Amino acid sequence: MPDTTRIVILGGGPGGYEAALVAADHGADVTIVCNEGLGGNSVLWDCVPSKAMIVSAEAMGWMQSAYRLGVRDTQDQDDIAGTASVNMAAVMDRVQSLAENQSRDITQKVEKAGVRYVQGIGRLSDRETVEVDRAEGGSATLQADVVLVATGSKPRTLKFSEPDAERVFTSRELFSLRELPPRLIVVGSGATGAEYAHAFARFGSEVHLISSREQVLPGEDPDAAAVIEDSFERWGAMIHRRKRAVDMERSADGVRVKVAPSRAGEVAPGGEEWVEGTHVLYCIGQVPYTDGLGLDSAGVEVQDNGAIPVDGVSRTNVRTIYAAGDVTGHMMLASVAAMQGRNAMWHALGQAVSPIRWDAVAACIFTSPEVASVGLDPQESDVPMHTVHLPLQGNPRAKMAEHTEGFVKIHAMQGSGTVLGGTVVSAGASDLIMPITVAVNSRLTVQQLAQTFSIYPSMSGSLQETARLLLGEPAGEYNPEP
Ligand SMILES: Cc1cc2nc3c(=O)[nH]c(=O)nc-3n(C[C@H](O)[C@H](O)[C@H](O)COP(=O)(O)OP(=O)(O)OC[C@H]3O[C@@H](n4cnc5c(N)ncnc54)[C@H](O)[C@@H]3O)c2cc1C
Repeated sequence: MPDTTRIVILGGGPGGYEAALVAADHGADVTIVCNEGLGGNSVLWDCVPSKAMIVSAEAMGWMQSAYRLGVRDTQDQDDIAGTASVNMAAVMDRVQSLAENQSRDITQKVEKAGVRYVQGIGRLSDRETVEVDRAEGGSATLQADVVLVATGSKPRTLKFSEPDAERVFTSRELFSLRELPPRLIVVGSGATGAEYAHAFARFGSEVHLISSREQVLPGEDPDAAAVIEDSFERWGAMIHRRKRAVDMERSADGVRVKVAPSRAGEVAPGGEEWVEGTHVLYCIGQVPYTDGLGLDSAGVEVQDNGAIPVDGVSRTNVRTIYAAGDVTGHMMLASVAAMQGRNAMWHALGQAVSPIRWDAVAACIFTSPEVASVGLDPQESDVPMHTVHLPLQGNPRAKMAEHTEGFVKIHAMQGSGTVLGGTVVSAGASDLIMPITVAVNSRLTVQQLAQTFSIYPSMSGSLQETARLLLGEPAGEYNPEP
């Protein structure tokens, strides 16, 4: 290798740009190739826009409790919830401007760190060479000692579900909406489907959620899914349980989706029916993006599902080629992509690196309330553990804010009391999960959590109370009456 390691990164999402910052910091010569603005899908189409849109939906939610909290219109009369409505074009303009600003901030940061940014589509022609079709026209050939593939993923579509950005959408086209869909069919009740179903129900759309399982959010804590289902139904959304989309028809002013019964997530015979809507949004998963990357010319192994298998430090089967993020098909989260990207660079540049601890990855679903979880799930683990489940009805802060829906659950190893995992279902759960994540990551005990001060009154008081209950201490103010 030459004195300065030449690194070429394909893809500018969190897997790519976080890696670029680490590599530049360690003195490497870094080029990042991305076919769109830096930040990638995460910033331009997925995490940032969806969460920005959900903030507008939350504002509609706050209107519902305004009257009870003593807030009135200027005549001190009306419940402002009755007169509030959403302007979809204004929501989407704000979303787009936030995403573009965030992408600009990342570009400035990366360029300031000395990273070269080439806008265009890149592919490997062999293990050391990346060819780029530049967005501005022409091509470039880049020589690399190390390549990182971080090209992300794209929404999965079905034979009949190709999006048209007018009536039929995936998460990718959704932000072109200028008017609120009166009757929205959301196909898929995983994290993305649940988030959008909730947001549009709060905006005032009539939402029909097609769920292939008995409960929404398959793979999550069933108690959490039950809270989310109650909340959906309170917002007027209709859940079509154990149904799969098998066909779709469009008309000038609407769409209809044919659904068939599903058993264990597969289509079961008989009982087909049509669900009518004005628009349909497919949230049926993401597919790793490896098409046309020239991975075969470089000898990089690719699985049947399109994912690139990697080890704990993001190495592919080729010594000098690494992969990070959704393209590896492993826990598709921005935080995971960023950590895999950093790990790849630390390893390639000879720094100490620890493999990712998958049991310490926290994830959140931004429904209302939010569902955040980390660590081992007692239903899927043989480790003997105690669990305490504390509803939020007793939390004084939750009562003040009318956020009593939800609970805190912590799992601790029997005997040692080591915190192994937990779930928080609450407003702000995405932040409240952090103390449990620190405990899991640092192998703290429930005793240490119980002895840590929490603010009074606060939602985090319920975390401390749950830890105290796990120690067998008497219940305090946060514990609701049975
Ligand atoms: C609707 C939605 C909401 C989400 N919300 C969250 C959330 O709240 N929190 C969270 O942690 N995760 C969330 N995710 C998941 C998160 O977006 C992904 O895990 C994350 O974007 C993965 O980052 P990445 O670096 O692997 O790739 P990406 O962010 O997908 O970026 C890859 C980039 O590479 C580009 N590219 C592809 N091929 C080439 C090529 N040949 N040459 C050059 N460039 C190329 C792509 O166009 C893209 O810009 C969400 C996903 C979706 C679909």
